[in-house]
Amino acid sequence: MLDTTTRNIKFLPGVGEQRAALLGRELNIHSLHDLLYYFPYKYIDRSRVFKVEELGGHLQHVQLLGEIRSFEEMGEGASRRLVAHFTDGTAFVDLVWFRGIKFVKQKLSIGKRYVVFGKPSMFNGRVNIAHPDVDDAAMVQIGTMGLQPYYNTTEKMKRSGLNSNAMAKLVQNLMQLLGNEIPETLSQNIVQQNGLMSLDDALRIIHFPRNTKELQLAQYRLKFEELFYIQLNILYYARDRQRRYLGHRFSKVGEMFNRFYNENLPFRLTNAQMRVVREIRRDVNGNCQMNRLVQGDVGSGKTLVALLAMLLARDNGYQACMLVPTEILAEQHCATLKRMLGNLPVRVELLTGSTRQKERDVIFQGLENGNVDILVGTHAVLEDNVQFNNLGLVVIDEQHRFGVAQRAKMWAKNNIPPHILVMTATPIPRTLAMTLYGDLDVSVIDELPPGRKPITTTHIFRSRSDSMYSFIRRQLDEGRQAYIVYPLIKENEKLDLKNLEDGYNQLCNIFCDYKLSKLHGKMKPKEKDDEMRRFASGETQILVSTTVIEVGVDVPNASVMVIENAERFGLSQLHQLRGRVGRGASQSYCILVTDYKLSEDTRKRMEIMTSSNDGFEIAEADLKLRGPGDMEGTQQSGIAFDLKIANLARDEQLLQFVREIARNVVDNDPDCNNPDNRVLWQRLQQIRKMNNRNWGAIS
Ligand code: ADP
Ligand code: MG
Repeated sequence: MLDTTTRNIKFLPGVGEQRAALLGRELNIHSLHDLLYYFPYKYIDRSRVFKVEELGGHLQHVQLLGEIRSFEEMGEGASRRLVAHFTDGTAFVDLVWFRGIKFVKQKLSIGKRYVVFGKPSMFNGRVNIAHPDVDDAAMVQIGTMGLQPYYNTTEKMKRSGLNSNAMAKLVQNLMQLLGNEIPETLSQNIVQQNGLMSLDDALRIIHFPRNTKELQLAQYRLKFEELFYIQLNILYYARDRQRRYLGHRFSKVGEMFNRFYNENLPFRLTNAQMRVVREIRRDVNGNCQMNRLVQGDVGSGKTLVALLAMLLARDNGYQACMLVPTEILAEQHCATLKRMLGNLPVRVELLTGSTRQKERDVIFQGLENGNVDILVGTHAVLEDNVQFNNLGLVVIDEQHRFGVAQRAKMWAKNNIPPHILVMTATPIPRTLAMTLYGDLDVSVIDELPPGRKPITTTHIFRSRSDSMYSFIRRQLDEGRQAYIVYPLIKENEKLDLKNLEDGYNQLCNIFCDYKLSKLHGKMKPKEKDDEMRRFASGETQILVSTTVIEVGVDVPNASVMVIENAERFGLSQLHQLRGRVGRGASQSYCILVTDYKLSEDTRKRMEIMTSSNDGFEIAEADLKLRGPGDMEGTQQSGIAFDLKIANLARDEQLLQFVREIARNVVDNDPDCNNPDNRVLWQRLQQIRKMNNRNWGAIS
């Protein structure tokens, strides 16, 4: 039988070498299977053709039939556009393109019959349709189909004629090639007990539905399957790993741990910290390798928990390594650890991209002969020439910047993989955590150190900045410090940096009797470090910065966080930034500054921020507003995250439901030899193979 997962897409009639290369590059479609599971992103009932005179700005998508009378190029720079004056005899409508102007002009001709499809809107009192789909009327059969599938394609593909229609044609060819029956991928039991549509039906219908009712059934079946295999994969391999890997055993609580705990610790652990330390202790004192995720809101004291775990390693003759995402943070952590350890004989070293060769040599030697107890570092630590004598524990801080691949690299640094402790301040919503880290045990530090006052958050419009400045001044006069953060994104870097400069200069004038620091990603690591140090030591009172301070940095005396252009930040980011204050005992404030005009979405975000200090609540809201695809770090997660049909924000219930079904399968068929489940295990292998394949090697 034809194995669609290994059959190269180029063999499909209508594809060939060139298109295959394009499909691979643009959409990651390499095999027949990839195309089969490349689902339409929407369906449009195209049985109806609208008249141009019926159009208003309020309609959803419409289909028109007519011709272009003339083209016109208008505007300059960003508003440069091509307008095609289109009519069906009843009225005119403007078709507008801002991109790909040359290509559109080449492709479309005046006077030819076209089917135009798009969403009308009003601009300067005229109806227009921006970036419509335009098809040769001779090629489209209006009204013969039920719901027409729409496939996402890229500009490059469209330029080579691979538009949505062409994709639909390819899928049709594929269905023909596959013939009668696409083999079932779930067991009979599961299909029957859950009243699922067969895979064959579901795949045919998802591409070419006749009506919305059967479409929904097909969608349900495919979502079910997608989520089920994610869970089966996680649950099966979690067990498999437990069986396969013995962990390093840290059986004793020794001198360093005890001395630190009894003599150096300046405060009591919170109950939550204590509980998590106990959970870690239990893991590392067992026979298995620990893989634990510690979730704790910003300021909950994760660093201390990490240090205690690393001391456990030290006391049992092992080295520990702490991985952090940025150099600033690495330096700060290293300094914090050294300060906390005081004169205890625990050697802590720092390794980053800017560590000089000479120091590097010394550190490498110390790592290899076992003299270095704790290594704090950035990605530089992952390099192969960083060799440990006996690495027993890896702490990954602010995990969302590290993916599964990095974790795997650290595993390989000892013949028995080290224990892994992942710390994240980005509270990951339950659904996402289950999917991303289903193979990790989770601890939660759900308590802040005592004496913290909840941060007061307000949202103001830029026009009210003056009163904000007087407020900041009062805080500074009381001896506090303030952060003022500006957004910076790559796409807009020049302008963003200019905003930051302008803001900085303005603030220098307003606060001329105070000292200001400036920090942004374009500065040299050394400069950044110096500025950060000046602020941390209190030498400067205001830190004007981009989001480089986002994670981890700890200056307890800072009590004000101003976020300029707050509308440009996501909720989780806002919460992270806010978490830079409220770390000391004094009341702290977060001020979100936006324009007067706000989108609905921004308004919601501001509302959530001003009403909640709870990272978990905020993360849930974030997931709902943005959808999981946007969640930071999900791209590198390495898990099948390009969910093809399920949506973690919307399908939470289904996810939990199928998780139980998967758990049942794993529990009741530990050796994978129940014939009823054969199809499941085979499919799981197939999915894993697909995720690991290298298409360069396949022809
Ligand atoms: P995060 O969880 O965001 O990484 P940190 O580990 O940076 O938080 O801790 C935030 C601050 O709280 C630090 O200044 C730390 O010294 C302090 N801290 C940690 N644990 C406690 C505690 N149990 N009691 C009081 N302060 C604590
Ligand atoms: Mg931290």
